[in-house]
Amino acid sequence: MIVRYAMLSLALALVCVCATGERVVVLDWRCGNSMLHPNLDPEPLDFGSFFVAGGGTLADRKVEFMDAVRVRIKTILDGAGIAVRVEHAPTDAEVETTVRLTQWASPAGKNEIGSAHYDPKNGRHGDEAVIFGEQIRRNERYGEAAGEYTFDDWVAVFANVCSHETLHTLGYGHVPRSECPPDGSDIEIMLDGHTMGEMRSEQRVLDKCR
Ligand SMILES: [Zn+2]
Repeated sequence: MIVRYAMLSLALALVCVCATGERVVVLDWRCGNSMLHPNLDPEPLDFGSFFVAGGGTLADRKVEFMDAVRVRIKTILDGAGIAVRVEHAPTDAEVETTVRLTQWASPAGKNEIGSAHYDPKNGRHGDEAVIFGEQIRRNERYGEAAGEYTFDDWVAVFANVCSHETLHTLGYGHVPRSECPPDGSDIEIMLDGHTMGEMRSEQRVLDKCR
């Protein structure tokens, strides 16, 4: 199972640069309306649909899960030298990137678990990403029984995909897998296609991949 990411070539607003130099990334767990997918009715992430090894679902530890993902995203972006503040919606801050999480399967199919605006041709990038919960849930079950993912696995999967799509909105493109294949624990977060096993692992922006 190879995860697909989408890069949409749309003419959207250029990214804002906040006065403090600190970029604000907001996680909208109720999704809200999306500029990337304006014809679809957003459905909030269904935490109860994600089974956890040993019993229960993410709904049982929803607040803990949301915050663990938030903290992990900040760690990944900090590691890339990008100063960010990651918050949950709603917020009064001037927002650079909104990551909308929905239970939809991706309308594009093809194992796509997230999309964001970035146009490598003209260097334009947007300020919004969408994460597809149902597609992630289906991918988990590809070749595995439901409930094999631990709580920490789920944190890694969601933090990795949210960070990957956020990096698109900051101007990062894909790294071809052939140019920088994963080596042990060194997994480039902007690879064009991760396995779900790699999505459950620690990922980061690797200098050697650019
Ligand atoms: Zn991507």
